[in-house]
Amino acid sequence: MAKTILEAPKQQTGAKLFVPDYVFVEPNALQYPLGKELVERYQQQGIPIQMTTSHNQVRGIPGETDVEKFRNAKRTLVIGVRKTLKFEPSKPSAEYALPLATGCVGHCHYCYLNTNVGSRPYIRIYVNTDEIFAQAEKYIRERPGEITRFEAACTSDPVSIEHITGNLKRAIEFIGQQEWGRLRFVTKFHHVDSLLDAKHNKHTRFRFSMNADYVIKNFEPGTSSFSQRLEAAGKVAKAGYPLGFILAPLYWFDGWEKGYTELLEKLRQELVPEAMEDLTFELIQHRFTKIAKSLILQRYPKTKLEMNEVERKYKWGKYGKGKYVYPDVKAKALQAYLEKEIARLFPQARVEYFT
Ligand code: SF4
Repeated sequence: MAKTILEAPKQQTGAKLFVPDYVFVEPNALQYPLGKELVERYQQQGIPIQMTTSHNQVRGIPGETDVEKFRNAKRTLVIGVRKTLKFEPSKPSAEYALPLATGCVGHCHYCYLNTNVGSRPYIRIYVNTDEIFAQAEKYIRERPGEITRFEAACTSDPVSIEHITGNLKRAIEFIGQQEWGRLRFVTKFHHVDSLLDAKHNKHTRFRFSMNADYVIKNFEPGTSSFSQRLEAAGKVAKAGYPLGFILAPLYWFDGWEKGYTELLEKLRQELVPEAMEDLTFELIQHRFTKIAKSLILQRYPKTKLEMNEVERKYKWGKYGKGKYVYPDVKAKALQAYLEKEIARLFPQARVEYFT
């Protein structure tokens, strides 16, 4: 009988390595060594495997209700071949998104994937990395004499599934050999050990998404805890990667100033001096759209996430689609406070933007 998962973890207790409950495979994926290896691995582990004609249309994930289907989809791995080798743009921080995977095992209430991948929240991994890298090389060659940057976390958290595919390490080492190529990605997971000895050649900026402990505990179930991320950032810094922190979403809660100062002070203690020389921060305030709010309330009905439109400012976006951000007075207070604390604790670091 199909297994159903009724509730995602309520409290964030630190992420375990993800093992899927269900696996789907595209027939073409079996032509690639990674596809074959994964199927053998899951067969040995007794995990149910089904074939699917396309990784874009997986049918048969169990669940009586939409919420059950959503929960089970997040426990489903789809092994596929990336056919579209036209990379999406990823402005302003990179020229292109590097497609290694789509979907994430985490349950962050405010995750952008809630709306971006819509009705297909299962985890899709791609086994044709040689073709993906060949395409990346083509893009690099199209811009002679200029750095071309690739973002590997546009549609997934690549560290959360690295123990399954090893694709991120392959990408880091591929970009390490590219004179004019650079890679960046962001993670909320601490499973970084397999990446520490990668030949990165300082061509990859390894970023962690960090937040005040209160925010991580309440809104980011299924991801690594504050202290796990902190320890992982320390290891990554020691491994010589250029490091970055995305503080997002900056969230207004009782005691936010203390919470964010504590976060930055702990980061300061954890980092080796070399990490300070090339360190970046990106600051993103909490925002939501009407569609996101309704999906969040449907999928996480007990969420404490504050999404009261009347307390927000409506910011118009492209194509008439706007979002709710903090009113200017709160946004400016968050920005000023965070920038002041970053300057105090990390005088050499660069704040890339606040949005
Ligand atoms: Fe989304 Fe990132 Fe959370 Fe995964 S870790 S659910 S990609 S916000």
